[in-house]
Amino acid sequence: MTTAPDELLLPVPDEDGAPFWEYAAQGELRVQACTACGRLRFPPRPCCPHCQSFDSEWRPVSGRGRIWSYVLPHPPLLPAYAAQAPYNVILVELADAPHIRLAGNLVSSADAPLDSVDPARLRIGARVQVVFTETGGMAVPRWILEKP
Ligand SMILES: [Zn+2]
Repeated sequence: MTTAPDELLLPVPDEDGAPFWEYAAQGELRVQACTACGRLRFPPRPCCPHCQSFDSEWRPVSGRGRIWSYVLPHPPLLPAYAAQAPYNVILVELADAPHIRLAGNLVSSADAPLDSVDPARLRIGARVQVVFTETGGMAVPRWILEKP
């Protein structure tokens, strides 16, 4: 993978995860669900870790969650990230599936830069809502505070 210095890294979908990105491109957050036992799972994989079924579907979730944890990356950073530091990387616990945590960034709006939220405002447990940012031809899930 090659990137220009001003470009952020993009997800590289694999066969199991491709539907996640296809739904994201439509503005939908979906996670894989086992059609045998009904459990939601992430990251996507062929086989259910609970009942070993290979049957699955992609189920929409509310897009709401809470900040489970976060970090503020420090140098050395790739040039495109250094230009936006200090920014955050958060782990979001999904409201519909608290055992699923998605990594992302907290931003002030879908198209705002990675440093658009003051790090002092980050709180574990804060309620967030997914938004989708178009970047490099992909729709990438990011998060905004429910109460800005
Ligand atoms: Zn199952």
